[in-house]
Amino acid sequence: MKKIFSIYPFNDEDFKNQMNVIKNSLFDGVFIYQSDAYEEQLQVCKEMDIFVEAIHVLRNKADSLWNDDDYEVYKSTVMNGIYMASKYKTKLVVMHLTSFKTKEKNERGLNRMKEFVEYATKMDVILCLENVRNNEHFDYVLDSINSDHLKRCFDVGHANCFSKDLYSEYHLKNIERVVCVHLHDNNGLYDEHKIPFTGSIDFEWFVEKFMKIKNQINITFEVHNQRMYYDTFKELVDNSSIAVKRIEELFKR
Ligand SMILES: [Zn+2]
Repeated sequence: MKKIFSIYPFNDEDFKNQMNVIKNSLFDGVFIYQSDAYEEQLQVCKEMDIFVEAIHVLRNKADSLWNDDDYEVYKSTVMNGIYMASKYKTKLVVMHLTSFKTKEKNERGLNRMKEFVEYATKMDVILCLENVRNNEHFDYVLDSINSDHLKRCFDVGHANCFSKDLYSEYHLKNIERVVCVHLHDNNGLYDEHKIPFTGSIDFEWFVEKFMKIKNQINITFEVHNQRMYYDTFKELVDNSSIAVKRIEELFKR
């Protein structure tokens, strides 16, 4: 099980310095968000021999998948994410299917997803759908496209504050398709992306009921929002390391 740390795209600290912090920490690699700088960041990771587990596609236009507004922009964004992942030998591309405004699911959106999966297959990349607010679109796409290049990214924080179904059986469905897990905490109301054990999520339950089924899987700490509470990136990583150790202890029980 590798421990991955997600890198906040708008952190103004020098990227190489951040990567040096990661190199000297308990974390084994990073998760990169698409941004104007992401190719440059992928290049730095390559030069510094830092494992990049996943690229996260920009999420704000995800709704356009289901209608025509801005779809071309979103399409090229996703395609570019897949292309970069392939170029920099990053296996996973994480994406959302919906954002703030939820439109009805429809065949047009499904066909567009099929096109993405086809391209991901060609580029030997795995597209991972992340659970956000809306399980309906998520089920529709996963149930309709059965491919080794379409998998799940399970986000524990989102299940706690958005769909509020973390402790239900729902997320255990298709658990064999989960290839990455995002860990962060919140108060059950807002997507705070806090360090595990500082919000309302019962991580003991989560490790026991979910992670132990998937114990070969890597875990990603997605706690970038917390950067504002610490003076330096190193402090954030150091505090996250304490939580990672607690998670590892839970695995040993
Ligand atoms: Zn996430």
